[in-house]
Amino acid sequence: MKFDPASNIQDLLQFGEFGDVNPSITDSATYTFLEGKTMSDTFTGEQQGCFLYSRHWNPSNRYLAEALAAMEGTESAWVTASGMAAITNAILQLCDTGSHIISSVTTYGGTFAFLANYLKKFKIEVTFVDPTNLEQIEKAIQPNTKIIYAETMTNPLLQICDIEAIAKIADQHGAKLMVDNTFTPMIVAPAKLGAHIVVYSMTKFINGKNDCVAGAICADEQFIDELADVNTGTSMLLGPVLDPMRSASIHKNLHTLHIRMKQHSHNAMYLAKRFKEIGLKHNYPGMPEHPQHELFKKMMNPDFGFGGLIAIDLETAERATKLMEKMQEKGVGYLAVSLGYFKTLFSNSGKSTSSEVPEDVQRTMGLSEGLIRFSVGLDNDIERTFIMIHESLKERGYL
Ligand SMILES: *Cc1c(COP(=O)(O)O)cnc(C)c1O
Repeated sequence: MKFDPASNIQDLLQFGEFGDVNPSITDSATYTFLEGKTMSDTFTGEQQGCFLYSRHWNPSNRYLAEALAAMEGTESAWVTASGMAAITNAILQLCDTGSHIISSVTTYGGTFAFLANYLKKFKIEVTFVDPTNLEQIEKAIQPNTKIIYAETMTNPLLQICDIEAIAKIADQHGAKLMVDNTFTPMIVAPAKLGAHIVVYSMTKFINGKNDCVAGAICADEQFIDELADVNTGTSMLLGPVLDPMRSASIHKNLHTLHIRMKQHSHNAMYLAKRFKEIGLKHNYPGMPEHPQHELFKKMMNPDFGFGGLIAIDLETAERATKLMEKMQEKGVGYLAVSLGYFKTLFSNSGKSTSSEVPEDVQRTMGLSEGLIRFSVGLDNDIERTFIMIHESLKERGYL
C-alpha cells in the first residue's frame, strides 16, 4: 500500500481530557506525582509515560510530535520553538569537537551561517558541496564525517536532492543524512527514502498561517530520546521548547496541510506554465525543463504536486525590486520573506533570506542577483493573479 502521510495523520485518535475532539492544551509547566519514587524514576528514565516538566515533554507537544511522526513515517518526533532550533539541536546532538559535516552549499541562509560561522567555535569543520553532485559528496567524506546535510528542495534554487542515493553514501560511511524538508512536506517523505533525521521549519507550510515560528525533528526513538535526555540532551539542556498553546494551534493546522499543499502546487504549476508562454525566465521543479524534474517525479507523492515555490529571474536586484513593488501594489501578494502562507509572498533571495551567503558564493552556486522567489498562495482564481503579474511586468517594461 502507498505511503499516505495525510491518511496517517487522519487515522490518529487523539482526544482531550473530557472526550474533546481536540486534545486538551497543557497549561502547566510542572506536574504532580502521587509518590516520590515515580518522580525519581521518571528522572532516571525508568518510569515511562509520566510528564515531569514542560521543557522536557508536555502533553500538547507530544500530540503534535505524534502527528508529525505519523506524517513522516518515523518512530518519533520532537517539536521546537523554531526551525533553526530544530536544525541546530539535531546537528549539535550528533557532533563533538572535531567532527566533520558535509553540507549542500545551497541551504536556508540561517543554516548556512550556523554551519559556516557558528560551528567554528566547536572546531566542527564543514565542507560545502553541490548537493546534486553525488561524486562530490562521496569525495568529501572523511573518517570524522558525522552528518551529510541537505534540503529536499534547496532554497532558493529549487534543486532536488537525490535523498535515496545520498542516504546510501551516508550509510556506507557511518554518517547520518539530515534533510530539511520544509519546502516539501507530504510531497516527499525523506525518512522513507533513507534519511535518518528530517527537520522542519513549521513556520512555513506545516502551520501555514504565519502567526508563529516553530520547528520539528523527526527521527527514530533513540535519537529523539537522546535529544531529551536530562543529562546530555541538546534540546533538554539548551531548552528551545515550543509553547503548548502554539503547539495545539499548529496541530489543528496540520490537519489541513494536505489540502493546502495541493492548492499551493496547483497554483504554482499554473504560473509556471503561463511564465513559459510569455517567455519569462523561470524555475519550477514541476516543469520538464527543470534539471531534476525526472528525479523529483520518482521521489514524490504525486497527490501533492510539485510544491508552492517558483522562482523567476529579472537579472538585476534593481529590476527585481521594482517588479516586486509593482506586484504588491496590484495585489499579487506581499513583498515579504518566508513561505507557505495562504497569500502569495515574494522576495529577492540574494538580498534577503540568502544574504548570509557571501555574494561570490551566491554567484558560484548559480543564484542570480535578480532572482525573485515566490511562495504561491492559496488563491482561488490563479489566472487573475497571473494577469496581475503579467501587467506588472509590462508596466515595468520587462516584456
Ligand atoms: C525558514 C526556514 C528555516 C528556519 O526556520 P525558522 O522557523 O525561521 O527558525 C530553515 N530551513 C528552511 C528551508 C526555511 O525555509
